[in-house]
Amino acid sequence: MADELRQALKDYFGYDEFRPGQEHIVRSILSGRDTLAVMPTGGGKSICYQLPALMADGITLVISPLISLMQDQVRSLIQSGVKAAYLNSTLTPNQQRLALERASQGAYQIIYVAPERLSLPAFRRFAQSAPIVLVTVDEAHCISQWGHDFRPSYLEVADFLHVLPRRPVVAAFTATATKAVREDIVRSLELRKPEISISGFDRPNLYFEVQEPRDRDGAVLELLSRFPDRSGIIYCLTRKKVEELCDKLNANGIEATRYHAGLSSQERQENQEDFLYDRYRVMVATNAFGMGIDKPNVGFVIHCGMPGNPESYYQEAGRAGRDGSPSQCILLFQRRDILTNRYFIDQSEGEQNGLTRSQVLNQKQADLRRLQQMTSYCTAPGCLRKMLLGYFGEKAPDHCGNCSNCLSGQPPEDGTGLAKDFILCVAMLAREGRAFGAGAIIDILTGTERGSLAWLNPHRLDCWGKRSGVSPVKLKRVAAALLDQGYLRQTDGDRPVLELTAKAPSLISGKAHLLLKAQRKRNTEQKSPAPDRSVDSELLSALKKVRSDLARKEGVPAFIIFSDASLRDMCQRLPRSEAEFLAVKGVGNLKAKKYSKPFLIALASGQKNHE
Ligand code: ADP
Ligand code: ZN
Repeated sequence: MADELRQALKDYFGYDEFRPGQEHIVRSILSGRDTLAVMPTGGGKSICYQLPALMADGITLVISPLISLMQDQVRSLIQSGVKAAYLNSTLTPNQQRLALERASQGAYQIIYVAPERLSLPAFRRFAQSAPIVLVTVDEAHCISQWGHDFRPSYLEVADFLHVLPRRPVVAAFTATATKAVREDIVRSLELRKPEISISGFDRPNLYFEVQEPRDRDGAVLELLSRFPDRSGIIYCLTRKKVEELCDKLNANGIEATRYHAGLSSQERQENQEDFLYDRYRVMVATNAFGMGIDKPNVGFVIHCGMPGNPESYYQEAGRAGRDGSPSQCILLFQRRDILTNRYFIDQSEGEQNGLTRSQVLNQKQADLRRLQQMTSYCTAPGCLRKMLLGYFGEKAPDHCGNCSNCLSGQPPEDGTGLAKDFILCVAMLAREGRAFGAGAIIDILTGTERGSLAWLNPHRLDCWGKRSGVSPVKLKRVAAALLDQGYLRQTDGDRPVLELTAKAPSLISGKAHLLLKAQRKRNTEQKSPAPDRSVDSELLSALKKVRSDLARKEGVPAFIIFSDASLRDMCQRLPRSEAEFLAVKGVGNLKAKKYSKPFLIALASGQKNHE
């Protein structure tokens, strides 16, 4: 069995090894157990249900929320020699009828459908008479009201399972699931004693960076020149910003297209395809873009603005480097992003239909907490990867060596002493029933006379002038860090004042420390991750040319032919025959037969040029 599985993995998908978690999930499904798999974006979920589908005796249905995703997956599968099809509204009624007819005759091993289809009579008739052995629910968090992508049509799945003459094995997949969402999935899909597999969330090939630039557009342009020949996504918080930035990039000669919910569905579709087919290198988008975009060769994801929570951030950033090649996730943060996100949270009330008032309030509280954690990510001095993984409940080493904080070369400053005095000053005033903004506290600590504080007679306070030698700028950083890391909170309203949080005493007692992020020196080069020098770039571009010619001929996106990772592996292995070509990562039997020739020719002539 082990050998059989590995053989199928190689024959169809061209991989020698399973990625962490994959084999376990495949085995669980094949043993007939319902399975819930939580795997990070890019972790390799598809193979976990495609492989069992290939080995099973019967039909696998894959329920998937997005049409574009289905089309890509089916195209890819057909390229790999798998009998696959999709059923969705892009087919004419006649095509749909034909597809169902062929499906009934056993023409397909895997059929992709949108959840809406499950309740259509024609489809139900087909399903009741066909040997459906496995039902896979992709993006399963869409079934949960607590998830961030609730889709009511997913609730049809359980109903559908009830009308089948024999209940198939059910496998659910998602990249983001907190405990509440996991429980919701198990309940709503009525999974039976499911095996729950949660894979590690780390994506070692992703480099994480946070910048706090004054001029964000300038920073974007600077970054784009850092990776001139890679394709990537730039996320903005608002539609307006998407439009502005996309225009600006175009004006600067960068081939960028755009995506947001304000465009017609036709334009969205076209722009998305332009990006998938590499006709445009850069996609500027709101968070409406991305679910189901399985483009594996996304080399960078830039966030021009902080997303509202770490789940969204990790999911969006995770769209980089699915093919395993070193890729960059860069967040350009500004303080005002906090306000923008608070505004979004305030506005969200209208959308919470079906929830009671107290549920809405709870959700808002949770949203604010997640926003606070996202803010910590943007401002904290420690390893960024460790913070993200910690948020998902995973332990990680203190230093990853592949994030901007680990690579800054400047250790964080210890601000604990100043932070204690700051907190004690706020606490002292609170005992008198008074509260102030950061500016007044800083004046008191530095002993700066200001008429506006005279009424308080501040000289009498113990903390008056206690830090008279310290620059107000430094104390401002301390105040910001105390807010960002959740020791202080700022009230709403026109005249916000500071309050202590439940976390504040841990600083006073010495249990916690406050680290200040090292300030970036101007004009000094920040170390960025080492560029990939392991392959001959000339040879790589020759292979890319072969790939894009083939893609054009077949009318598919280039990555459906081979991923960048496969091309890079070719450059390293330099195969000389079809048999050697088969050893390349991502080359299965069918693709080797179909495509080895032109690549072998390009590899041979690339070699000659070098001799
Ligand atoms: P997910 O759906 O989890 O985001 P995908 O299923 O799209 O991820 O897989 C991401 C990429 O990883 C794809 O390009 C896929 O071909 C590749 N991949 C999957 N499994 C393996 C493996 N065992 N070895 C190498 N690459 C793999
Ligand atoms: Zn790190």
